[in-house]
Amino acid sequence: TATVASAPAAATRTISPAYLDARQPVERRVADLLSRMTLNDKVGQMTQAERAQVAANPGRVTAWRLGSVLSGGGSVPSPNTPQAWVDMVNSLQRAALETPLKIPLIYGIDAVHGHGNAHGATVFPHNAGLGATRDSELVRKVYRATAAEMRATGIPWNFAPCVCVSRDERWGRAYESFGENPGLVTRLGGSAVDGLREGGVLATVKHFAGDGDTEHGTGDSDYAIDQGVTVTNRNDFHRIDLAPYAAAVSEHGVQTVMPSFSSVDWTEDGAGNPVKMHADEELITGTLKGRMGFDGFVISDWEAIHQLPTAEPAGTREPAADQVRAGVLAGVDMFMEPSTAPQFQELLLAEVEAGRVPMSRIDDAVRRILRVKFRLGLFENPYATLGELGTPAHRALAREAVAQSQVLLKNTDRLLPLRSDAKIYVAGRNADDIGNQAGGWTVDWQGRNGDIIPGTTVLDGIREVAPSASVTFSADASAPIGASDIGVVVVGETPYAEGFGDVGSKPWQQGTGEQREPKLLTLQPGDRAVVGKVCAAAAKCVVLIVSGRPQVITDQLGGIDALVASWLPGSEGAGVADVLFGRRPFTGRLPFSWPASVSQVPVNIGDKTYQPLFPYGWGLRTGSGKDGRDAAQERAAAGRAPAGWQQTIADAQLSEEGGDNVGSEALFRSVAG
Ligand code: BGC
Repeated sequence: TATVASAPAAATRTISPAYLDARQPVERRVADLLSRMTLNDKVGQMTQAERAQVAANPGRVTAWRLGSVLSGGGSVPSPNTPQAWVDMVNSLQRAALETPLKIPLIYGIDAVHGHGNAHGATVFPHNAGLGATRDSELVRKVYRATAAEMRATGIPWNFAPCVCVSRDERWGRAYESFGENPGLVTRLGGSAVDGLREGGVLATVKHFAGDGDTEHGTGDSDYAIDQGVTVTNRNDFHRIDLAPYAAAVSEHGVQTVMPSFSSVDWTEDGAGNPVKMHADEELITGTLKGRMGFDGFVISDWEAIHQLPTAEPAGTREPAADQVRAGVLAGVDMFMEPSTAPQFQELLLAEVEAGRVPMSRIDDAVRRILRVKFRLGLFENPYATLGELGTPAHRALAREAVAQSQVLLKNTDRLLPLRSDAKIYVAGRNADDIGNQAGGWTVDWQGRNGDIIPGTTVLDGIREVAPSASVTFSADASAPIGASDIGVVVVGETPYAEGFGDVGSKPWQQGTGEQREPKLLTLQPGDRAVVGKVCAAAAKCVVLIVSGRPQVITDQLGGIDALVASWLPGSEGAGVADVLFGRRPFTGRLPFSWPASVSQVPVNIGDKTYQPLFPYGWGLRTGSGKDGRDAAQERAAAGRAPAGWQQTIADAQLSEEGGDNVGSEALFRSVAG
């Protein structure tokens, strides 16, 4: 029945209950614990609240029997030190262990390019840059280091990696994607999951599924592309959007999955009225848990069920009862309810008591959550121990990743690498701005420009790597440019996260400073002016684009001698200087097709008409670089996937190989003049 579960049997036992006995198999421990839980305990496990609601009031963790707490982007303790993080997580954990059954909570955070919320952490390139490296082993190490720094602050759960396959870079989250090619995303996404696990951290693959494949201009208002509709057919959806999940689940053992704010329209003409993913039982329960065999748990996205249809008058309750019911019945197991945890719990209890949500579904959800907690060793080791952030080894790794991520798009007369005794004129607003270089999800959710984290800017790197060069720096190019100078112009985007990413119309984008600028895949007028001025006056010019995605630059390309896609390098800008001066070779290759014009977008490898400025896979080499690809190995590994998914994974990986070979010298010449 749907009422309170039976009274604990623990009273009759003289030895410790089976679920606390680490020698017992996990499933036995899960069953034992589940049998002791009341409905309140169960609903508690299914709830995740935000740090701001509980940090100053840990008693709420006990009272609400919370299964989990998260830090949203930029939600950090004060002071933002490792000790403060560990103290906070431990105080919440103590509160969780005061519940009758002493079930530890699990703390989660978005460490999407290193542990970016924590001050002093190593901030790695965003996934777009890692995609350019093509290097599985490197990605594994980057995520392992990220895990180590998370653990240093007491956090065992990461809402990463995003295994989105970004097909339209107007999307404000394109930089969270390893690339447009599902094979590449499948391979590197798997490496990220492995790296986190090796570092003792639970990975979440997100946002299930098709978040990067939504159509521009569908769905609701400003979120049209971010949280909109993927218009597709079964075949393409499997090949493009589901492949990374099939591999993450079956080959990399991922244990948590976050559904997307978007939805899928199977009518192909976009005329359907699709259900939001958080209510999509067919995809969550049927495909993910059923056909893919996922036995971990599904964590909702931030208040995502509040977006589901409701029969209640608008704004009556958040969330509404029918939204809660729809999410649970679709197969969501834990609910990210940052500031509405008690409301959510009250509604879910009532739904179960009224028989509208069967106890079997609740038990399934809780079983999954407990299974993951046992596997992670949380019952044995609930408390955090202090560690170190931003270690020299991690920073060296980040610097290497930055160097490998640089994509050399054009290099007339082999201008690069530069001589270390050159006379260099450095310009552009992204040359000496570590905040711009790190992008979104750095200290703040939206990121911020300026000197926000320790590390090196590109300019710092140039000074370090080429100490005998004569360097003039003028961000706006107002200082005089000598005719013998080599101009190095660093321009591109300023930080943002989520949303359209192109109109700056959300409230947080209307705040202060540079977050307000429109983001249209084109350089800002100020950036264009600096490029124009320096490239006209200097003997030769190199343009570096620091951005989360391609920026259209076709009309200025003729005046540029060397062009580099630098992505969002993070805290170790010196890695850019390493390749500029030939300490390391350029080996990066484009993870996204580089459009010739904005009207051409979306443009993806495999399109019938495919005339980007630079194709997917493009990247000139300097020196003798190592090719990081190991697609053949990964294809072999695909043999371990359960029947039915092998082909999906193999197709995706084959497409990666095909895609990597399309860049041709002739095409380059035809567009570069
Ligand atoms: C994002 C998720 C993220 C969550 C928690 C949401 O806005 O869509 O990717 O994990 O916030 O910060």
